Amino acid sequence: MPASLSLGVPTTRLAPSPTGALHLGNVRTFLITWALARRLGWRIVLRIEDLDTPRVKPQTIALTEDLLTWLGLAWEGEVVLQSRMRDAHVLAMQQLASRSCVFPSPKLRSEGLATETPQSAPNEGAHEMRFGPELRPPTRPSEFADDAPTWRFATPNETIEFTDLFAGPQRVCPASTVGDFVVWSRREGSPLGQAAYQLAVVVDDAAAGVTHVVRGNDLIDSTGRQLLLLRELGLPAPAYVHVPLVRGSDGKRLAKRHGDTRLDAYRARGVRAERVVGLMAAWCGVLPREQPQEMALAEFVERFSLATLSQEDVVYGPQDEAWLLGESQRSGGTR
Ligand code: GLU
Repeated sequence: MPASLSLGVPTTRLAPSPTGALHLGNVRTFLITWALARRLGWRIVLRIEDLDTPRVKPQTIALTEDLLTWLGLAWEGEVVLQSRMRDAHVLAMQQLASRSCVFPSPKLRSEGLATETPQSAPNEGAHEMRFGPELRPPTRPSEFADDAPTWRFATPNETIEFTDLFAGPQRVCPASTVGDFVVWSRREGSPLGQAAYQLAVVVDDAAAGVTHVVRGNDLIDSTGRQLLLLRELGLPAPAYVHVPLVRGSDGKRLAKRHGDTRLDAYRARGVRAERVVGLMAAWCGVLPREQPQEMALAEFVERFSLATLSQEDVVYGPQDEAWLLGESQRSGGTR
């Protein structure tokens, strides 16, 4: 329980993965995070999750920071780059090894990526990827050495329960969905491994004193894995706020296939930040869904409430893009 951290300043984080620039789905989650933090007096830190991909261009990181600033978001202290947290990640692996709950293993065919990212994380249905007790070595080492293609967490067969501050009571069973998940993985073409997403996120959140995690509800399943790691590492669990995703009209999570929904593409087309915030207001229950209006960030913060945020995903439709680009205004407001 987060008793020790409750003595400190409540803290949340913005944790973009710089694999592509921010899109409208990220923007919605970040504005919700920002509004909650401003209203409830939480500190905000910015962590760039640059372990997800072998090649993160420095200009992509700079663009992410620039876009957040353009929206009006700010953060305290130095920006944390996950790739610079290696020492803390190694220490955590040593601790997990000393508790015999991790073991070295070969990489499975389907695990070509350097790390298990939230988006690529094997979940239900990925049975051929599931490592279970029958594949564990008979004895587990008590020390960590960065000399195996992957290290896995020996997932206990138990159901993890937590109460999400927005999504409500949750029950997840990592042993049956993902089994022994990867916590450390060797990078392609490198003699060294690095922390996988599940491990990096808990270590980095704890290092930054994060007490409140606000993120997309596609990560609820990952939260079960993260709570197991936190327990073994003796770290307090943060409070979780998992919010619905933005999807394309085909029902899939907003991505490249839905056209160019990157924030910098809209900015380059002359869309003002207030217009983006106004669309987010319509997507977050601040304004009626079909009636976006330009809005200053401060007003969004004042009017936002989790109580009026829908539990349903947002579907990004052509009318949203038309409004963002101001086409509805030019054509006299008809839609
Ligand atoms: N970096 C992840 C993303 O951009 C978020 C991970 C997290 O919040 O734990 O989706």
